[in-house]
Amino acid sequence: MQGLRPEPVLGVSLEGISLLRLDQSADLAPGNKRYKLEGFLEQARRRGVKRLLSFGGAWSNHLHALAAVGADQGFETVGLVRGEAHELNSPTLQDARRWGMRVVALGRSQFRLRNDSLFQQQLVAEYSPCLLIPEGGAGPPGVHGCIAIADTVRRLGRGARRIVLPVGTGTTMAGIVAGLDNTFEVIGVASMKGAVDLEGRIAGLLDLMTPGDHARWRIDHGHHCGGFARVNSSLRAFMLAFEAVQDVPLDPVYTGKMMLALHTACQRGELHGRSTTLAIHTGGLQGRRGYEWLGGIS
Ligand SMILES: *Cc1c(COP(=O)(O)O)cnc(C)c1O
Repeated sequence: MQGLRPEPVLGVSLEGISLLRLDQSADLAPGNKRYKLEGFLEQARRRGVKRLLSFGGAWSNHLHALAAVGADQGFETVGLVRGEAHELNSPTLQDARRWGMRVVALGRSQFRLRNDSLFQQQLVAEYSPCLLIPEGGAGPPGVHGCIAIADTVRRLGRGARRIVLPVGTGTTMAGIVAGLDNTFEVIGVASMKGAVDLEGRIAGLLDLMTPGDHARWRIDHGHHCGGFARVNSSLRAFMLAFEAVQDVPLDPVYTGKMMLALHTACQRGELHGRSTTLAIHTGGLQGRRGYEWLGGIS
């Protein structure tokens, strides 16, 4: 791998780029999902609700974190998982069950209704009293929880002005943008193909926040590598080469694509001001177990 050299700054530094290792937080649920959940947990505590319900796939980082954090904080958790019962034996869901999550199979046609308000009302009635958390911890409470990541960036960021992170729903990015001022630029690398509504969604989430001075931001749509949870040959080759020289495990769904985007920009000479660039490792390493070619969790 040309152009990627370890330099011990903030954990590691890649060609002068610093990396904030949320994946290394000494926590049951490392990564960004715990931050997103915090806003929902606050809501549940305020309402005195002890049961948390949410959606996800069999490899969901979100359900994994929800099961861990819920168990730790005395909540009952229910995971509504896409697929048939016999498909729900991933290591992710085995962990979740071990932590006490009740795993319920939702057929694919039902799962498609997960953002439908009538369907949600039915679920809330069925599991009442409960709090229904949107898939991935998306939405305003998730944004509020992620402002704490911006605080960490300011505290540990050592003068970083350009923040780069992988993006799914945009919730984490919106929280970071909202928590920083306009001397910062935030770049999100989209993990989904054709996520044309992402900018609108992030702008909408920011509109709901207290008006104020936000960071400048933009989305890189060029590194989805075939689409959500897809891996093309360049991503695979890059990740294997990266891990051979860097002591930083990546996940193929999110952080691998972000790192590939940074690497490509470095190679093309497009990334100026590397010493003030901070990439955020958002975690997701539990999901590596779904990719044999990566050799599991390292
Ligand atoms: C969920 C997730 C993201 C995306 O977060 P959003 O708030 O949905 O944009 C990024 N990285 C990892 C590792 C994730 O698990």
